[in-house]
Amino acid sequence: MDFTISEKIQTIVAMINEFVEKELIPLEPEFLAKDFKDLLPVLREKQAMVKKMELWAPNFPVECGGMGLSLLEHGLVSEALGRTPLGHYVFWCQAPDAGNVEILHLHGTREQKQRYLNPLVRGDIRSCFAMTEVDMPGSNPVMLETTAVKDGDDYVINGHKWYTTAADGADFAIVMAVTNPEASTYLQASMILVPTVTKGFNRVRNIPVMGHEGSDYSSHAEILFESCRVPQKNLLGPEGQGFVIAQDRLGPGRIHHCMRWLGICQRAFDLLCKRAGERVISPSGKTLGSTQTVQNWIAESASELQAARLLTLNSAWQIDNIGAARARDSISMIKFVVANTMNKIVDRALQAHGGLGMTDDTILAYFYRHERAARIYDGADEVHKTSLAKRILKTYKKAK
Ligand SMILES: Cc1cc2nc3c(=O)[nH]c(=O)nc-3n(C[C@H](O)[C@H](O)[C@H](O)COP(=O)(O)OP(=O)(O)OC[C@H]3O[C@@H](n4cnc5c(N)ncnc54)[C@H](O)[C@@H]3O)c2cc1C
Repeated sequence: MDFTISEKIQTIVAMINEFVEKELIPLEPEFLAKDFKDLLPVLREKQAMVKKMELWAPNFPVECGGMGLSLLEHGLVSEALGRTPLGHYVFWCQAPDAGNVEILHLHGTREQKQRYLNPLVRGDIRSCFAMTEVDMPGSNPVMLETTAVKDGDDYVINGHKWYTTAADGADFAIVMAVTNPEASTYLQASMILVPTVTKGFNRVRNIPVMGHEGSDYSSHAEILFESCRVPQKNLLGPEGQGFVIAQDRLGPGRIHHCMRWLGICQRAFDLLCKRAGERVISPSGKTLGSTQTVQNWIAESASELQAARLLTLNSAWQIDNIGAARARDSISMIKFVVANTMNKIVDRALQAHGGLGMTDDTILAYFYRHERAARIYDGADEVHKTSLAKRILKTYKKAK
């Protein structure tokens, strides 16, 4: 393992840190008070600045217009961006577009790349990913009810999805649907590109999540596919390969989340320490930081954050060097370790802020609301733990 940070990346991270402090954190009060869509004009201005700085789309391939950073390099960049909820969107490396770029790049036809991938990397359009269904367990995604049936030159899609993040305002969706019901379980589903203007693509609502429906990029939609007809050439990759391609998307996708969560941990930790040093809790001038409880929170948070960071960088290094398939165990580990570390550090920082922590006068309540989901999406903690333990146990069986 080699985690040497090149001068180039050190410079990029320093530039991003400065941009986040000067340009993005000051926008947070507006971000917390307004609908995301009302913030779009100012966010577009910030994106233009990022393009000028030549820091656009850091992890996307160079041939599509990105910077082509390795996953390890992107890990450091992503932590810096994750300190604010606006970072990834403004630098254009946000989920779910980042995962969609990856699979379009790997599996798209030349026509699909022209129509979907290139404008997506430029930031001219957005996308979403519709796999999870209302009535089926997302934890076992092979149990899909959505179907795509061939009719003439088309597929006709019917199904009921939800939690399609950022569907509001997206140009197209990548939809998982059963195309080969007679095939073996893992070869039944395919990915299909569906422009959101297609008749039968019905966005029912943005789901209220922790009390907020959100809008545009910052939302999660329920979608009803009702005889939604798209040409068969919109199939992404070979028919029946949906789950194989999903692995290409979800493996790196998980590590992207972890890298962003490290930034949230760092920001919450900084707020915790600042509060500990400043909040006077007795007439003698004793501060919160003089109590052993808060000292424990600080020491535990610092060490847990560093452990989570090293585990994440190690996974990134493994994906870069031996591929996502062989880094599976490491990816499972970071998914639940970093999600829980983040939840703990945000909780401690919020607690240290008392009543202030519950308001939107700091970013902590937003992190607390939004990032609870980290233990559920892209595979619930319990599912990752079970599959990791099973793989570990298998190696013991073999050894016997
Ligand atoms: C904020 C957010 C954004 C999301 N974005 C997207 C998106 O863009 N596209 C998309 O397709 N989906 C998205 N999802 C959906 C997400 O992937 C699913 O919610 C997740 O896979 C869990 O599926 P489920 O909700 O159906 O829960 P279920 O599968 O019903 O599971 C419920 C709970 O049961 C437990 N459980 C399940 N299986 C097991 C097991 N084998 N062993 C032990 N315990 C188990 C876990 O605790 C789990 O949390 C998003 C979800 C959230 C919350």
